[in-house]
Amino acid sequence: MRIRFNEISPNGNQFTIDDPAEIGDADLSIQDGTMEATFVLRRKDEHKVEMSGALKLTPVLCCDRCLGSYAYPLETEYHILFETIADSKWNLKELECGSEDLDTVLLEEPEIDLIDVLRQQVALSLPDKKLCSEQCRGICSHCGANRNTEQCNCAQNTVETPFAILSKLKK
Ligand SMILES: [Zn+2]
Ligand SMILES: [Zn+2]
Repeated sequence: MRIRFNEISPNGNQFTIDDPAEIGDADLSIQDGTMEATFVLRRKDEHKVEMSGALKLTPVLCCDRCLGSYAYPLETEYHILFETIADSKWNLKELECGSEDLDTVLLEEPEIDLIDVLRQQVALSLPDKKLCSEQCRGICSHCGANRNTEQCNCAQNTVETPFAILSKLKK
């Protein structure tokens, strides 16, 4: 969904995307298939558009430790200033001063791709380390049992740490 600067009112326009398929990530499954993404665009001048938006969805992620899937409710807000490159040269000083507490995105064309923004916000909001819970016990490296749900008998036999071997040698 591409919005050109000249379609945006100084008073603000609101856009909504509610189809998670727009994220375009086939590997990312969304619980209930619902998503709420809103974008309020406000034109500051010919070359600048301010965006504030909010995103809400619950992706189903795969735990790095136990490989089980779990729901990860995600809610984020964003404020971004879009500026065309031609104009930004004039405003470089202003940017350096950080006069506005906004992320600034420079554009070659006076056009904002809302789908791009959506994808970026989703990517930024996903955790680096995916854990179904802090206490996740993971998968047994010996028998492959999910140690959250199964009691395997490897525990007694898996003390082959260097210390265990050392203590054997001492005997
Ligand atoms: Zn897990
Ligand atoms: Zn095991």
